[in-house]
Amino acid sequence: MRILLTNDDGILAPGLAAMRRQLVTLGEVDVVAPATPQSAAAHAITVPGPIAVRHVRVGEAFEGYAVDGRPADCVKLALGPLLPHRPDLVVSGINDGANVAINVLYSGTVAAAAEGALFGVDAVAVSLERGESMDFDRAAQIARHVIERLVTAPPGGDAATPARGKLSRRRGWLVNLNIPALRPGVPRGLRVVRQSTQPMQDTYSRHEAPDGRSYFWLEGAFDESAYESATDLHALCEGYVALTPLHFDLTNERLLEQMNAAQFLKSDVSIA
Ligand code: MN
Repeated sequence: MRILLTNDDGILAPGLAAMRRQLVTLGEVDVVAPATPQSAAAHAITVPGPIAVRHVRVGEAFEGYAVDGRPADCVKLALGPLLPHRPDLVVSGINDGANVAINVLYSGTVAAAAEGALFGVDAVAVSLERGESMDFDRAAQIARHVIERLVTAPPGGDAATPARGKLSRRRGWLVNLNIPALRPGVPRGLRVVRQSTQPMQDTYSRHEAPDGRSYFWLEGAFDESAYESATDLHALCEGYVALTPLHFDLTNERLLEQMNAAQFLKSDVSIA
């Protein structure tokens, strides 16, 4: 199995190195990651270019491509001109911080995985909730167990098996894996749950710069008293690893049906 490893915290991030150490037990790993931190880049891409790419050695640990671009750029380049072979799996992470609920929309970690799935490669986004200590090695072991399970028993069964020659039409599966802040007794287990849509409570603190201008610093938090059960946010809060299958079709199916049933366009709306 060939695995493309990327992230949004940059190629020097400890979470990426820890994930790589575990993934090499599953297959051949190529690293293509942003040269600099790109958290909250979401699904941005660098257009119009150019995108500088350097082949780098990260300490004595590994070699890879450092991309002067966004997480989704990394996956685009890796599936395109950069690598001589197509990966069987994209792994993005391990992100420094959880990517649950509405943060899924802001996350560069999830977007990089989504980019893989969009182009037919199964993909996993991996994030570790912030805690007192960030034990990326232990988180990577947990992630590896889940990834092993996902690739040996793929979600969707046969439907997830690529039909050769039809790769361009196939979508890969995309799962978002979040590991709770590690402490004794945690994780308590694994839950397969939906994404919470609970927004964060945004708090901006206001400061004065030495030149007199104001600047703002965003510190968002979730209202723990309002957690919906059976969601990624709730599972993480209870100390469970949260696994959420995602898709990137944003269509509101219920509204689509209602609008078609009501013959929305044929009634009063003139588009002529
Ligand atoms: Mn990040």
